[in-house]
Amino acid sequence: MPEHSAAAARWLAEFERALRAADAAPLEALFRADAHWRDLLAFTWRVKTASGAGRILAALKRCANESGASGFEIDPGRTPPRRVVRAGTDVIEAIFRFRTARGRGSGVLRLVPEGEGWKGWTLLTALDELEGLEERAAPRGAEPDPDVLIVGGGHAGLSIAARLKALGVDALIVDRHARVGDNWRKRYQALTLHNQKQVNHFPYRPFPADWPTYIPKDRLADWLEDYAAKLQLDFRTGTELCGAAYEAGRWTAELRGRGGARTLRPRHIVMATGVSGIPNMPDVPGLASFAGRVMHSHEYVGATEWAGRDAIVIGTGTSGHDIAQDLHSSGARVTLVQRSPTLVLNIEPSAQLVYALYSEGPPLEDCDLITASVPLALLRKAHRAWAEQSKKLDAPLLEGLTRAGFRLDEEDETGWQFKYLERGGGYYFNVGCSDLIVGGKIPVVPMQDIEGFAAEGARTKNRVIPADLVVLATGYLGLDALLLRLFGEAIAGRVGPVWGFDEEKQELRNMWTRTAQPGLWFIAGSFAQCRIYSKYLALQIKAVEEGLIPDVIPRADLEAVA
Ligand SMILES: Cc1cc2nc3c(=O)[nH]c(=O)nc-3n(C[C@H](O)[C@H](O)[C@H](O)COP(=O)(O)OP(=O)(O)OC[C@H]3O[C@@H](n4cnc5c(N)ncnc54)[C@H](O)[C@@H]3O)c2cc1C
Repeated sequence: MPEHSAAAARWLAEFERALRAADAAPLEALFRADAHWRDLLAFTWRVKTASGAGRILAALKRCANESGASGFEIDPGRTPPRRVVRAGTDVIEAIFRFRTARGRGSGVLRLVPEGEGWKGWTLLTALDELEGLEERAAPRGAEPDPDVLIVGGGHAGLSIAARLKALGVDALIVDRHARVGDNWRKRYQALTLHNQKQVNHFPYRPFPADWPTYIPKDRLADWLEDYAAKLQLDFRTGTELCGAAYEAGRWTAELRGRGGARTLRPRHIVMATGVSGIPNMPDVPGLASFAGRVMHSHEYVGATEWAGRDAIVIGTGTSGHDIAQDLHSSGARVTLVQRSPTLVLNIEPSAQLVYALYSEGPPLEDCDLITASVPLALLRKAHRAWAEQSKKLDAPLLEGLTRAGFRLDEEDETGWQFKYLERGGGYYFNVGCSDLIVGGKIPVVPMQDIEGFAAEGARTKNRVIPADLVVLATGYLGLDALLLRLFGEAIAGRVGPVWGFDEEKQELRNMWTRTAQPGLWFIAGSFAQCRIYSKYLALQIKAVEEGLIPDVIPRADLEAVA
């Protein structure tokens, strides 16, 4: 056995012995002072990170007995232990398996050298399946009310529906769009995905090998439709959730659709409505005086009718850039109005650096486990390094943008993915629009220079920027606003903020975990996040349905585990 495999096997054996020992010293001796332990349900039934040897020890001691975790060993069926660099540190990384009182789990251990031996630096323990309740294709229940109502049928809704189906939990997806996949089909024509295909697979059904690296939106739209059909997911299109109230263990969910209004009484609602829920329509001074067409970016479908005409696009995130480029390439004269400094990086290689793992060779399942095993502190460290690297790689582009009057986000340290995780946007992957800006083909004007609007365009101090069209690429209000609108103040207040990190708990707030509101769950994020975490979300709903865990995490309990 190679030396690093032996070291990992030894550590796991000692870990198991130490878990049982009455004395805390052997357990403490296994971890570095700055170690992290992330648990995905296996020990705590929570999505939880503990940092520092002292906290890990206290948390492990609290739950080790009840969890019944045992049988820790290197998993011979998975990527063998290897020496790799993670967050700038040379580590042994080992995938292992174990059993709990309730089921089977897997994990990732990272060891770093200390003194004569190796110490635990990061540990992930994740529940894979419940004993006796393993995944299987189950026939749909005959109940008129599904156990779970999934609101939103994009990749997030489809991922959780597929996982629940495999666990035999009856779920119905509703989406206000008329056809499955319309959430992509109805976007602007030029759109292709920004991450490479190997990172974006859906649960159970990977994209075909001969598909392009960057999938165009219409092909993706048809894939969503095909996915729902092949997996026989229950999907009701043209149906909107308008509001819901909770009483005596069930929701009263008010739906509006083609057949009129309808009420369903599910036990669970999973919100899969995207991180960006309600279009943000800022109050642009004087816009009411503008005589041309005004639309939010979500209404923009293509440039055909704007060829040879003037357009102003307000906002410099992904949509603003993509729409400006689309208008320009169709022969419109476009001005981009910048509201705040924006992070820009080239789509290749910079934007792909964070996903290098998925091209390293391990199978998708192992890459996902390794991805989930990186605790927030190390994730930030790794992303700082990638952000630095991107800035160097993209230096000529960034200098050109600055010369063209584009304000770059100079304060950013952790790169685009943290912008997504913390605020749902604020960056652009250059697929050509930045080059048009640098080359003077798309002028950029700061929002501060716009004094107001006249019938024929935007007024600055010295001139009017002519426009027939103004596109507000001004983003979306987050999930909090949607929660308030659909569920009311009491539930929104109980649940608290959704998405963005809780720094204390080192996890995304309220995502893929029980919330303070019984029967209310959230799933959102990238294809990879939804693929990874839909599994743990489905396991929790199954466990609630089977009476293995309560359906709510009391706030005090959440805080006590920290
Ligand atoms: C140009 C571009 C490229 C991208 N590339 C990638 C990539 O490569 N990889 C990646 O991971 N991400 C990528 N993204 C991000 C990706 O778009 C989002 O992550 C994704 O759309 C979110 O999917 P979702 O299922 O969470 O939400 P959505 O796709 O927004 O779906 C939410 C659904 O909920 C429905 N809905 C909302 N409210 C209600 C209601 N009350 N009742 C009924 N239905 C409702 C909507 O109709 C919608 O269909 C890209 C985005 C853009 C713009």
